[in-house]
Order: sequence, then structure tokens, then C-alpha cells
Amino acid sequence: MLKLELNEAVEKLKKIHAKKILLQIPEGLKTKVDDIIEELESNGFDIAASMDPCFGACDLKENEAKILGCDAILHLGHSPFIEKTKIPTIYAFLRYDLGGGFEEISETLAKYLKKSGINSIGLTTTIQFIEYLPKLKRVLEKNKIKAVIGKGKRVLDGQVLGCNYSSAAVGTNTILFFGDGLFHPLGISFATGKKVITVNPFTKEIKELCEEKETFMRRRIMLIEKAKEAGDFGILVSTKTGQNRISLAKKIKELLELAGKKAKIYSTDTISESSLLGAKAEVLINTACPRIAFDDFGSFKQPILNSNEVGILLGKKTYDDYFIEETY
Ligand code: SF4
Repeated sequence: MLKLELNEAVEKLKKIHAKKILLQIPEGLKTKVDDIIEELESNGFDIAASMDPCFGACDLKENEAKILGCDAILHLGHSPFIEKTKIPTIYAFLRYDLGGGFEEISETLAKYLKKSGINSIGLTTTIQFIEYLPKLKRVLEKNKIKAVIGKGKRVLDGQVLGCNYSSAAVGTNTILFFGDGLFHPLGISFATGKKVITVNPFTKEIKELCEEKETFMRRRIMLIEKAKEAGDFGILVSTKTGQNRISLAKKIKELLELAGKKAKIYSTDTISESSLLGAKAEVLINTACPRIAFDDFGSFKQPILNSNEVGILLGKKTYDDYFIEETY
């Protein structure tokens, strides 16, 4: 069950004497927006809820807060990401409560690791399960398996983001990812070059990441090879606070033009197929959140590559150098 704890955030907002609040809410929680507004209003705050899509704490609507006369932002579902914000920002996480299911999965994991001869492992997860890492460490250590929770940059201990795997840089040969989905384990694998074990707390499946890496690489190679034939490129820049990389976009434009290609820069807040109406580019180069090119590539009519794939596209790098870009 997914739980949102507002009490702590309410106390923090009161402590900084915030009154007018811009509420930012992740897509998965939008169906609860009215309940959340009402709960906050009952605590004496004036609330304006930003209804634009919000996928991470890289997306702080500081200008919107300013235009609406708000004196703080309440950002739900994500952990702090931007180091210096222009407006006081309070975060409230969403947490999964696994109930008794956690004991079962952690004991099964300890048995799996022992059977696989793994006696030392780095622990990672996403924000929704972050509270489970110290508990998991305790269970593994009780079973004589050394478990390390890494200290990353601009993330909580053991936390990984689609653009930040710094907490996986620990001195073990194997990294465990506790959570669902494939994107984060793939990122850890490409960022560290280490063996990755995934533990899905919902399905209770425990497995080593293997053929998923090959499938992912095959898809990327197919897209990059197709992009090599193109002459007209669109470079995508997001205006979101923590995703804007206009200098990189300009550099890529220069590189593509030097290679005899045409290149234009398109900027938008949320990058999507519909925001590119009229753009004739045959291939898109994404400089914003790296997940866009991986998770959403099917929703664009042209191939979409990440900026770090341009080196391979232009023949300056090989597929042996492939990595998933970290942008933090
Ligand atoms: S850039 Fe992407 S992966 Fe990183 S915090 Fe933002 S939405 Fe998440």
C-alpha cells in the first residue's frame, strides 16, 4: 500500500511561516489531488495545485509559485534534488508499506544470496522503499552477508534515480536493487559494470539482471544505427529547473553541423510528441531527463537518442563505450 505522510510536511511549512503554498503532485497521485488540497486547507494554508505533469524533484515550478504569489512549494512524492532553490521547498515522500511481506522477501533473499555464494552486496532502491534498506541490511547481516548502503550525491543513502546512480558506487562486486521496474537496475548495471540482483517486493521475484541488458542494448543499437542515416536532427531542451542543459544542446548542434548534418534546438517544459508539432527533424536528441529516450521512445514518431549516444552516432565512440547517462 502506498502511503503519503503529510503531517511532517505540514509542521515544516508552519515552522517557516508559509501561508500560500504551490502544491506539486506526481502523476500517480493526481486522483487524490482534491483530498490533499482539502487536508492542507484544513491546516490553514492557501493552496494552488500545479496540474502540469511532474515526474521528479528536478521539476520545481518556482516561476509558477512566484506568479501565483506563493511563499513556498510543497513537493510530493520525491526527495530533494535541486541544491539551492529560489523559494522555500518542502518535500513529502510517498512510501510503500509492504506489511508482513517484507519479512518473507528479505529471508528468501538471504537464502538466495547464500545459495549463489554472494557474501557481500551493495543495497539500492527508489524513494518509495528507502525505509526498508536499513531493515534489509539487518536481515542480511544476521545471515552473515555484508550489506553496504552507499552514500550518493544529492540523493538519500542507497537511493537511485533514473539520472543518478552515485549511491551504487560501493566496494562490492554485486549490487542489489530493491524495487520494481527495469530502468533503475539497468542504469546501475551500466553505471557500475557490476552484477545486479533485482528484488521485486510486489511479485517477490529475485533474479540476476542478464538478458534484459542484451534486449536493451539491441534496441539502442537499432535506434542509433537508424539515426546514422538521418540528415536532419532536433535537439530537445527542457526548461525544467533540474533538467535544463542548453549548453550541452548547443555543443551537440555544433558537432552535428560539423559532421554535415542539419540541427535545430527545440525547447519545451515537458518533452512530448505533441509539443513537437511542425518540427521536421528525422531524429531527436534528448538532453533532458534520460528516461524520456528509454521509457517514452515508442511515443515519438522519430528515433529519440540520449545526448551521450551522439558520440556513437558520429563514430567517435563504439558500443563498447556504452553507458547510461547520469545528469545530476
Ligand atoms: S531528471 Fe528524470 S530521473 Fe532525474 S529526477 Fe528528474 S525525472 Fe527523475
